[in-house]
Amino acid sequence: MKIDLHAHTFYSDGSFSPAEVVNLALERDVKYLAITDHNIISGIKEAVKTAEGKPINLIAGIEIDSAVKCSKDPCHIVGLYLDINTPSLKKLLEEITEKKRIKSAKRLELVNKYFNSNITHEELQEKTKGTPGTPHMAMVLLDKNLVKDIGEGIKLFTKRGTLHFESPEKPLMAEEAIKIIHEAGGLAVLAHLPDYKKENKFVSETEQENLVKELVQYGLDGMEVYLADISEKDKKFCEKIAKKYKLKVSCGSDFHNEKFIPQNKLGIIDIDPKKITIIRKD
Ligand SMILES: [Zn+2]
Ligand SMILES: [Zn+2]
Repeated sequence: MKIDLHAHTFYSDGSFSPAEVVNLALERDVKYLAITDHNIISGIKEAVKTAEGKPINLIAGIEIDSAVKCSKDPCHIVGLYLDINTPSLKKLLEEITEKKRIKSAKRLELVNKYFNSNITHEELQEKTKGTPGTPHMAMVLLDKNLVKDIGEGIKLFTKRGTLHFESPEKPLMAEEAIKIIHEAGGLAVLAHLPDYKKENKFVSETEQENLVKELVQYGLDGMEVYLADISEKDKKFCEKIAKKYKLKVSCGSDFHNEKFIPQNKLGIIDIDPKKITIIRKD
């Protein structure tokens, strides 16, 4: 059965509308689909509506950037089965959006100074229905031939990048993110554990396990084990860790746009549903 519990729309850094993502999933015979945009739930209503009466289970989700104590680097926590009308969730997301808006304006200033360019906020806003972030800036830079690909654009803003900008605001802690996911009736899932090392974060197995250990203390419910692009070794490790910490198992492609990230294909995970224990049968 095709199960995809991690997919993005153009409300964060994906390229398609929620309806387009749901329709593509239907075309590919995906039976369970979660929309999990970064720090925003604006796409959920449209996705739920599109899925109504169709042979697909649509799960309201989110992916929240979360800081931890065991590392300087943040991780991503996916929330599944959210009640999107929960006041504390809405309030948190408004605060995140406001911080992001300030950061985006600051970044635009830095970019225009560095490239001696004249990129406007409107050009940036065209790339997303939500608040523009790093990937959107990279997309605009690519449009203007200021970088050779999206990857090069994104690199400029990473910790070691030329245009890195550290927001003075305190980051959202994982403990708080998990608490609010629970308040919204959801399940908190650690996203793509093996992927962090591609960006030089949580590189060793010890660091990865320490991350899980810390999140378990805050009530983490599950972790993604089956991913679009995972080595046999990483898969074994994730299966082992999920079992050791009694975490429910999730899976997802982290779909954004198959042109930019071809390996993260929507619906690529075809698996025995019994293995995906995060799925609620009610
Ligand atoms: Zn992520
Ligand atoms: Zn994601």
